[in-house]
Amino acid sequence: MSDKRTMFPQDGADGGTTGRDGRRRLVLVGGGHAHLEVLRRLGLEPIAGLETVLVAKELNAPYSGMLPGLIAGTNSLDDCHVDLARLGAFAGVRVVHGEVDGIDRTARRVTISGQAPLDYDLLSLDVGITPGMAGIRGGAAHGIAGKPISGFHPKWLDLLARCLTPGGPREIAVIGAGAAGYEIAHAVRRRIMAEADARGIDGTAFGFTLVAGGSLLSGSNACARRYARSELIAAGVRLVEGDPVAEIAADRLVLKSGRELACGAAILCTPGRAAPWFTETGLPLDDDGFFAVWPTLQSTGDDAIFAAGDCAAMIGQERPKAGVFAVRQGPFLAGNIIRRAEGRAPIPYRPQRHYLALLSDAQGSAIAVRGPFALRGRLFSRWKDHIDRSFMRRYKDLL
Ligand SMILES: Cc1cc2nc3c(=O)[nH]c(=O)nc-3n(C[C@H](O)[C@H](O)[C@H](O)COP(=O)(O)OP(=O)(O)OC[C@H]3O[C@@H](n4cnc5c(N)ncnc54)[C@H](O)[C@@H]3O)c2cc1C
Repeated sequence: MSDKRTMFPQDGADGGTTGRDGRRRLVLVGGGHAHLEVLRRLGLEPIAGLETVLVAKELNAPYSGMLPGLIAGTNSLDDCHVDLARLGAFAGVRVVHGEVDGIDRTARRVTISGQAPLDYDLLSLDVGITPGMAGIRGGAAHGIAGKPISGFHPKWLDLLARCLTPGGPREIAVIGAGAAGYEIAHAVRRRIMAEADARGIDGTAFGFTLVAGGSLLSGSNACARRYARSELIAAGVRLVEGDPVAEIAADRLVLKSGRELACGAAILCTPGRAAPWFTETGLPLDDDGFFAVWPTLQSTGDDAIFAAGDCAAMIGQERPKAGVFAVRQGPFLAGNIIRRAEGRAPIPYRPQRHYLALLSDAQGSAIAVRGPFALRGRLFSRWKDHIDRSFMRRYKDLL
């Protein structure tokens, strides 16, 4: 561990302290991917005079890259989660289990649903997205949202159990055919078929459909889409493109064209949206309601507030909402929070334009996509597993 450093040297002896034994307070909201790295860095390089508090809605932070494996039954719940209480203990950070529902920027205070508010000197937001129903009628009543993962997992286990009963759902649909929807469709099919087989249930009774509002993997290149289509055909997953879901009913999907598809259970992997409380903070937001930040990851309206991951939109350098960016931002966020605390200028982060996506078919093969290139094979599945497990070890093996 390096020496402890001092905070806010520019403020003088007591300039502007908030009265907590003279210590300044950094409040981290959300245990998202970027904040995991902030916690790790604070544990490795503690800053004298800085008290840090993490407010997290879930005390077990999920890593969504491993969620398809959890659904497929190849990863355990523990494999895919970081225990924030444990990481917080390593970082010397107080962890509050709660949901932030507002920021009073005049008082420099975050409000927490049903709990006492918390004053801050520096604030960092890494709260991800909230499930989006993409305007689908009946989505909230009949759809199962893929996010948040903590909410999805028990619903998935319930669905799996129902599928294995005589009168249970036989037609399963995944709505939204980005990377998450593609992987989830494969994982759901693999698990249901394996469990049915183990119980002597006729697997041919099940049908699996992936519905893309536009085209499959619309953000990827044509070669990746071709591979993905052939993997879906090989797995027996029906693909519906160019006809978005307008309504989810108890026993069917109604598409925009009026076409109906039998459906006993629908899993939503549609794009997420910004939480409604973002608007009330008065912080500048992008057109979709996410926090507008400079390349330093500071809010464009308040340099004491940082935001990273899916909840932030970097002005002029917009990128897709993907875990890979939240992970990459982590070291910059940590570094810039420390620099800001020490009175040094934060440095800009330049996100890469092309990034590697590894899309698993839940059968031991994956498609590797980067910019205009795509390859597929079993090697990429092993590589993805290695990357995911290394990421988790970075935050789990600290204590
Ligand atoms: C099924 C699935 C598979 C995916 N697979 C991949 C993949 O393979 N590769 C990839 O790059 N991306 C993938 N993604 C996208 C990826 O999940 C997100 O881009 C990533 O999780 C964003 O990380 P984050 O740090 O912004 O927030 P999150 O990981 O969403 O974390 C935010 C945290 O903040 C907490 N929180 C939220 N609101 C509050 C609040 N008000 N107060 C306190 N705490 C709060 C939440 O509980 C959560 O733990 C996948 C997504 C899904 C749904």
